[in-house]
Amino acid sequence: MAFTIAIDGPAAAGKGTVAKALAAHFGYAHLDTGLLYRATGRRTLDGTDPLDAARALEPADLEAGDLRTPDVAQAASHVAALPEVRQALVDFQRAFASRAGGAVLDGRDIGTVICPEADVKLFVTASDETRAERRQKELREKGHGAGFDEVLADLRARDARDSARAAAPLRPAEDAVTLDTTRMTIDEAVAAAIEIVNAARADRARA
Ligand code: C5P
Repeated sequence: MAFTIAIDGPAAAGKGTVAKALAAHFGYAHLDTGLLYRATGRRTLDGTDPLDAARALEPADLEAGDLRTPDVAQAASHVAALPEVRQALVDFQRAFASRAGGAVLDGRDIGTVICPEADVKLFVTASDETRAERRQKELREKGHGAGFDEVLADLRARDARDSARAAAPLRPAEDAVTLDTTRMTIDEAVAAAIEIVNAARADRARA
């Protein structure tokens, strides 16, 4: 049975953590769609045309070790504003979403554009400061030192670009449940998400 969970939200809100935990809990496959844009953006850093970069993506590109750097994140949000790049990545994401056995996808436009019929839609968010703290900690753990103000400014610039673009802007789907993780631990956020999914699965079983 296909069962699709769509998770959207701004950078570093905890959507990847929630998505991974839901996939593990329910035994579903997980796709971090940000990696598609990061891998495309990374290919453009040497001057490759963005559309050629998106079309040439291979599974191994998603495994590259340097996709989490601030430079790649900014390059990702630039290529992500191009409608032709987004279009080139749609089929892969939809095929993933409809696989038998269930799928969790996280990104910016999953509930609005990629999977408007998803069984569960979550919009995971948190305050700017909390997100910057989390991202700074994550970067430090990977050996990338960056000041808090710089990380905060980077996140805000990326969110502004992602929200203002004409093609599939970042916004909650009308029927998404918002999960604000500002004052939640990871365990609390995951527990809340599991409860929402369990309720949707029970509804689906009754239908
Ligand atoms: O989620 P992550 O921070 O890895 O995403 C990197 C960038 O990729 C985002 O800032 C956004 O511009 C883009 N993106 C997108 N649509 C998605 C996932 C990511 O536009 N579904």
